[in-house]
Amino acid sequence: MSSENLEINTFGLNTGSNENKMDVGHVVLVHPLEYTKNTFTEEAKQSIPISIWYLGSYLTHYGAKVTLINFESDKNAINHLREIAPTADLIGLTMMTSQITHSLTVAKIIKEEIGDIPIVAGGVHPTLYPKETIETPYVDFGIYGEGEIALFELLHAIKEKKPEYYSTISRLSYKKNGEIFYNSDRTPVDHSNYPDLNYSILDQKVLKAQESLPLITSRGCPYNCQFCCNVVIAEKQTFSSWTTEKIMYEMRRGIELGVTDFFIWDDNFFQKKSKTDEFLKGIKKLPKKITWFGNCRAEYFHQNYLSREFLKDLRSYGLTRVSIGAESGSEKMLTYLQKGNKPEHFMRSAEWCAEADIAPSYSFMIGMPKEEDPDIHETIKIIYKLCEILPLPKILGPMLYLPLPGSGMFNDCVNAGWQPPKTIQDWADMNSGYGFHAYNRPWIKNPKMVRIIWFYSLLICAPFGKIVKLIRTYSRLTKHPKHKEWLLVFLALGGAILGKLRYKLNFYAFPVETKIFASLRSINSM
Ligand code: SF4
Repeated sequence: MSSENLEINTFGLNTGSNENKMDVGHVVLVHPLEYTKNTFTEEAKQSIPISIWYLGSYLTHYGAKVTLINFESDKNAINHLREIAPTADLIGLTMMTSQITHSLTVAKIIKEEIGDIPIVAGGVHPTLYPKETIETPYVDFGIYGEGEIALFELLHAIKEKKPEYYSTISRLSYKKNGEIFYNSDRTPVDHSNYPDLNYSILDQKVLKAQESLPLITSRGCPYNCQFCCNVVIAEKQTFSSWTTEKIMYEMRRGIELGVTDFFIWDDNFFQKKSKTDEFLKGIKKLPKKITWFGNCRAEYFHQNYLSREFLKDLRSYGLTRVSIGAESGSEKMLTYLQKGNKPEHFMRSAEWCAEADIAPSYSFMIGMPKEEDPDIHETIKIIYKLCEILPLPKILGPMLYLPLPGSGMFNDCVNAGWQPPKTIQDWADMNSGYGFHAYNRPWIKNPKMVRIIWFYSLLICAPFGKIVKLIRTYSRLTKHPKHKEWLLVFLALGGAILGKLRYKLNFYAFPVETKIFASLRSINSM
């Protein structure tokens, strides 16, 4: 794969050919924990930190030394960071909103205990909140939008001790003499030209244990769902995707390493029928049979695209799971969200997937502006219907809506009297609280109802039989002793009865159970 036609600002310095690269510096890229607790589940222990892996692959291609630190999979990550950080020219922290709390802890440790090594923050949250990110005390630089080129240029400028070049690096924010500067956006790049993924920078033990390799083959999303961070990020990041040739090339490399499953993280992998057709042709030519996963939209399930026949064809070439963002069972809310789906699309997709032996999963939200009691009832009804067709773990939520800046829905929250967090620390504080108690949501019309339904979520929405089956399967997988398995079944059924009773009687006052649970959680996290 060629990557030589990328335009990189090297400030007139030669980075060398691929064979003879000059040293452009050492960057340590850190993947912090989501929230603050690491459970070290088997899944987490094998996780590949995809965002910093992609960044690192790009940087190593152009001569940088890259060390990845993954707090999700590495129990000794903090010690590894203490050892390696003093040799770094730059430390990069990737930050989703759920990672802020831990990112700030890591940044503080670096600056107060390790040394004054420059820290750059990038990822979704710094893209949504560039100003708040760069105003954070321990953060020296922020990169918003796609990070590869800006990160390379920043590392190079730091290594060469040329702060005067900061102003030429697109998507960078930085501090100078107490002032904050933001540079303009870069023209969109074609990711197909990006260098090959570099497996050598991953933890080799984790890599060997991989059966399912994560891939991102496109970035951005052209849709306009009003709750989604892509709508906000899209202003700064245009949709672009790898060519089918590049996808197949990386899949073949994965297969050579023993991978048998690909988890394609793209926000909407099935966006174009012609691309899916090409992809299927490519899969048919791979040297080994593989399985794969992709995110999808429910309205694609129709006679001229994801038809019953086409789904069966996709299944026989490895499509085993799809994930669908359903969000609400109410047509009114789906229109408000500009989702472009109807409840009937969810039911059709579930039925057709079940026929083709593909496992779909659906995510739902409640607690949105404009949402009224009948809308929530519609959501519960459709979850119940989907549960009758699908196994329970395939329903995510209903989760609580979180407003993201720049969307119409965010403005509706503000108009309802909500005061968004002002600093990154405020976001961290909000995240470290427990869900509904963490902050005020004045846009919710019936907060008592939303709190109880969110608290019990699936226990209210699912049939009893399926709940018992789920708990027993979970207990078997986690090898719980019999008495613990039955205790969990008892608790889940107790919760389901209480939740369903509250829902039936429309009685949401005195939420003692949510308070007890929040107290237990805070004791547990001390
Ligand atoms: S289709 Fe999915 S990724 Fe795209 S804007 Fe809608 S919710 Fe976001």
